[in-house]
Amino acid sequence: MQKKRFFVAVDCEGVSCAVGKPGGTLGESDNYAFVQRQATCEANAAVRALYDAGAEQVIVWDNHHSGINLDYLMLDKRCDILSGSGHRGRFPTIDDTFGGVLFIGYHSRDNTATAVMAHTYSSLTYQSYTINGREVGEMEIDAAFAGLHGVPVIFVSSDDITVSQAKDAFPWAETVATKVSLSHNSALSKHPLRVCEEINAAVTTACARLEEMRPFTFTEPLNVEIRFKRMDAAQTARLTDRHGEPFALTDPFTRAGTIASIRNLL
Ligand SMILES: [Zn+2]
Repeated sequence: MQKKRFFVAVDCEGVSCAVGKPGGTLGESDNYAFVQRQATCEANAAVRALYDAGAEQVIVWDNHHSGINLDYLMLDKRCDILSGSGHRGRFPTIDDTFGGVLFIGYHSRDNTATAVMAHTYSSLTYQSYTINGREVGEMEIDAAFAGLHGVPVIFVSSDDITVSQAKDAFPWAETVATKVSLSHNSALSKHPLRVCEEINAAVTTACARLEEMRPFTFTEPLNVEIRFKRMDAAQTARLTDRHGEPFALTDPFTRAGTIASIRNLL
């Protein structure tokens, strides 16, 4: 292991037994308290494997909603914790000293019919995000921010559909499926404790294969197309291209433009 710092980025939708509330958000779901504990346990399983493999610093990034979800006292006390919201840029403090990033509990991108709680940033705002002709979600965008610094995604755990999207984008990464997606708000999950064991084992394998991991990047400049759910949101979104001009409105719901770097997206 050459670089001994790692980032464990934790969202909540993809963890074992997390399902949404019909018509509501995950935070309003009756099992949200459980989801917070399970996201913590799944992150912890990854953190322990990283330290066992020789990591010297592991940062756990609590990034669902406003960035305050995990039970921090349950986390391995060797890790550091990035929480809250309002920081500049999408992937705060990432730089080229990290050996890898891990995605726990992420979810499928928007436009994925049967995936549990599929969305991109806000399920109320966006219908799809396309970069260089490829539909992307938060997983690919966060991976591209790490990729700017040459840092690879080494591990992903989530529902089966999100895992298949991860394998497509990061074929080198180790993965664990936590559940089978049945609909937007239902899933057949593996037992939460078994999922934690599988994550620990798969992250151990990922650490043994670090030299095979590759950074995920988009060819620059980036052709971006954002499809909104509402026409007024499409019209008023403040999106500017690499020349400082507003993104074109290519149909009543869609804005498109070219930006220099993924840094200019958010
Ligand atoms: Zn989330």
